[in-house]
Amino acid sequence: MDKILLMGNPLLYKRSVEVTEIDQSIKNIVTRLIDKMKASKGVGIAAPQIGINKRIIIFGFEDNSRYPNEQPIPISCLINPEIEPLSNQMEDGIEGCLSVPGLRAPISRHTEIKYKGLDHNGNQIEEIATGFKARIIQHEIDHLDGVLFPFRLNQIKDLYFENHKE
Ligand code: ZN
Repeated sequence: MDKILLMGNPLLYKRSVEVTEIDQSIKNIVTRLIDKMKASKGVGIAAPQIGINKRIIIFGFEDNSRYPNEQPIPISCLINPEIEPLSNQMEDGIEGCLSVPGLRAPISRHTEIKYKGLDHNGNQIEEIATGFKARIIQHEIDHLDGVLFPFRLNQIKDLYFENHKE
């Protein structure tokens, strides 16, 4: 199984490149990402997190112990994703990241977005997302542009360890 790259690895800070053709090698990457995300109990993952410099993200979960209060989202793949905010409304929500283990922070994201991209069969997807789903998609697309959630902190003291009360 693939390893998750951790914050500090220069591969996480590069811009990922567009996928030009959805062939078997891309489908294999999608499978590896889904396997790794499930094994890590993540709710999203982006290809650069396993060292692949391509614009591919996965999001979704059935039930998740890391985010127990959130409703399930079907596991989906989005290739060459694009987003467009549907309003100026932003909201703060707690984020974590498999590449930043143990740390959490409230991060401001667009509340409602339209997202587009291709699925693993090359079909065009265009949908609207709100709330936690919109948050995950914005977080994962950030990975494709070399951005990790701590880069978006409002103030450094917002960052905390999720087990700080144990
Ligand atoms: Zn992340």
